[in-house]
Amino acid sequence: MSGLPGAAAPSGGKDGESQGETVPLRAPADCTLCSSDGGEVVVRSARWRVILAGDADYPPFTRVIWRAHMAEMSDLSDAERRELFDVVLAVERVQRDVFAPDKINWAAFGNMVPHLHWHVIPRWRDDRHFPESVWGKPADAERDAAARARAQAVAALLPRYRQALAERLAG
Ligand SMILES: [Zn+2]
Repeated sequence: MSGLPGAAAPSGGKDGESQGETVPLRAPADCTLCSSDGGEVVVRSARWRVILAGDADYPPFTRVIWRAHMAEMSDLSDAERRELFDVVLAVERVQRDVFAPDKINWAAFGNMVPHLHWHVIPRWRDDRHFPESVWGKPADAERDAAARARAQAVAALLPRYRQALAERLAG
């Protein structure tokens, strides 16, 4: 598949949303996703960026972040909404190709950071929370070793994942 228009090569990133997401933020001036990348940028375009969240339990935990500070999907134009969904879908396809997970979860909340972003998370039956969401109750402690092994095996595929995302999404 060809890349999406306007995407560019990755550049540096730093942590934003993954820590300290405790105070509701309203204005762009206070918004961690306006003031920082929110993670390791893998692909960036003029309108969105794809980042790795750096989650130890879920190494491929990916966010697609709309660049402009908007709260809801219905704030986007039809063309913008299609573009954002196309990016989320492309991330899902790359995750299927690279990780062959048991399931892929999409989530969008924005309650703490009301700046449009989608979480795209490959899931396995032996991961730390399955079948709960990654924000839910962890599985019993008997799964700890398997979940750690799963996270480790998945982390080993991250270089391939970054490369595949860049190939699919960069212009
Ligand atoms: Zn913002």
